[in-house]
Amino acid sequence: MWCYRILNQQQSFNNMGAFNVLITESVCTNCGVKSPARIQFKYGSTWQFKYRIGDTISWGGNDYGNPNLKKVKAYGIVESTTCPSCSEDKIPEEYDIFIENNIITGIAPMENINDYLAPGNTEYVSLQ
Ligand SMILES: [Zn+2]
Repeated sequence: MWCYRILNQQQSFNNMGAFNVLITESVCTNCGVKSPARIQFKYGSTWQFKYRIGDTISWGGNDYGNPNLKKVKAYGIVESTTCPSCSEDKIPEEYDIFIENNIITGIAPMENINDYLAPGNTEYVSLQ
């Protein structure tokens, strides 16, 4: 029993600290206004690194994924779904973050959660 508890604590520690943030923009599905968005994801070395679209993923500690993959999509979750323009809770929450040759090429509202639920694919999916 105590073992299980320690494991759980470790897991919540990891969930708190070990992710990266993509600084980008998202479009509200209510008013259509584009606003700044911070999207958390786990790919490459993960320790609250901040990226923008066009940046190259860093490797070398607490790595998720593999730098040799040519094309992947990573699961992303936005930090706030409240639109600053209309105040409605209508910013899409989950995203596919596209990464080609270790460069973040773009995002789209998540197409299919099942892609990330397949065994071994919890944070990213190889698209090769
Ligand atoms: Zn809005």
